[in-house]
Amino acid sequence: MLERAATVDAAKPRDAAAGIERVEVAAVNLPARRSQYQKHEKVYPKLAHGTFRRIKWLALSGMLAIYYAAPWLRWDRGPGFPDQAILVDFPARRFYFFFIEIWPQQVYLLTGLLIVAALVLFLITSLAGRVWCGYACPQTVWTDLFIAVERLIEGDRAARIRLDQGALTAVKVAKKAAKHATWIAIAIATGGAWVFYFADAPTLARELAAIEAPTVAYLFVGVFAAATYLLGGFAREQICTYMCPWPRIQAALQDEHSLIVTYRTDRGEPRGPLRKGESWEGRGHCIDCNNCVAVCPAGIDIRDGHQLQCISCALCIDACNAVMSKIGLPRGLIAYDTLENEVRRAHAEPARYRWLRPRTVLYAGLIATVGVAMLAALLLQSDLDLTVERDRNPVYVLLSDGTIRNGYTLKAINKTYATRTLTLALDGPPGARVAIVGGESREPATFTVEPDKLRSIRVYVSAPAGVLTRDATPIRFTASDAAGAATVASAVQGPKR
Ligand code: SF4
Ligand code: SF4
Repeated sequence: MLERAATVDAAKPRDAAAGIERVEVAAVNLPARRSQYQKHEKVYPKLAHGTFRRIKWLALSGMLAIYYAAPWLRWDRGPGFPDQAILVDFPARRFYFFFIEIWPQQVYLLTGLLIVAALVLFLITSLAGRVWCGYACPQTVWTDLFIAVERLIEGDRAARIRLDQGALTAVKVAKKAAKHATWIAIAIATGGAWVFYFADAPTLARELAAIEAPTVAYLFVGVFAAATYLLGGFAREQICTYMCPWPRIQAALQDEHSLIVTYRTDRGEPRGPLRKGESWEGRGHCIDCNNCVAVCPAGIDIRDGHQLQCISCALCIDACNAVMSKIGLPRGLIAYDTLENEVRRAHAEPARYRWLRPRTVLYAGLIATVGVAMLAALLLQSDLDLTVERDRNPVYVLLSDGTIRNGYTLKAINKTYATRTLTLALDGPPGARVAIVGGESREPATFTVEPDKLRSIRVYVSAPAGVLTRDATPIRFTASDAAGAATVASAVQGPKR
């Protein structure tokens, strides 16, 4: 940490004889700067108490509960089908989310979901800064959990520092062993919960316990457990500062109207320790108690200004508010505020908040547009899909009776949980007929599709030679039963005339 003080000559006496006056500018203390290469100093966050800490506890409990419990929720889809509410079924190439079932052909729905999630994150960031980082990011949530365990076993900040700096005693070894054992148990539970999303959770849990699960399951549990242990126990704030690209991207999403955690310099400075009986006259409200620094999980001092390391967790607001209440001053020396308001205060103008700005309106509009399009795609989707691929080689076959035959591969997807017997009809040129190769019946052409399955069938379309030319004549296939129908367009071709 370097302390710099400077006395600056604003205008050098280039020519005293010319009468240029020498101006002295008072010395300033510049904030301490970190070297990019300095050794990492371990951060020992102190427990904060207050509104934002309570919100963080709630967010932590809610998100962990959802993560660990979600694979155990059941959803009845009928006999023979997975009854897990949320399941990524790779062997069946299906994603189940309660009543929604997404096939590989509907991957656009997942793409749309990711686009909406990204846009929501953009909107939240432009309105309220890094709240995702401060409250909901998995790195924040698991780091918070690991620190809570550390605090429970080793004590709060001062006790942990003393323990780390103290001699190796039996108590120290016991506390460290208990802490790491708990961390490892959490890490294994985290890795274990992850694999439950990809297979029937109760079955896989039994197999894992009996050492009968597939090797890949143990591999993934191990990889995720190791990542959780290292990232939550050791890397912590360094992930946010050095590895995560989001702090860099968010700079482009924020502007001077976005909420960030700010220290009110106009009110806090000049800072200094509060002596008994001292008047507030001529001094700022910051009593330099460093409580805001002690609770910071990023180990920074918000009084140095907005910094990349700050995850907007607002724990420094809680810490400072507690101090302000204790010394009888208004809370809010550190608060969520905008850069614009900092400038306005400097000019004695009232604070203002502009929620409606071109970028927030744009993000909200895009979220609504993509969201409505996805909802419509989801609600209007059919439980029967039909696709067709026309044979290219040969394009047509001239039969002995003089008719022209074209071949096709039709794929029918039955998204219901019942077998469907479908009748195939053709809408094409006069005299054209459709036949299924190996179909259940020829007139009418029918075929069955198993529940929740895709069936591929070969189809011939024959037509009198006189009605077909080399030019493609449009046709339409329709597969239908009493429950519904699906139609797909193609073409039929004959020889050059
Ligand atoms: S400076 Fe305040 S808001 Fe930023 S990370 Fe530290 S405690 Fe959280
Ligand atoms: S907690 Fe508040 S009073 Fe204490 S050092 Fe931080 S800003 Fe100053």
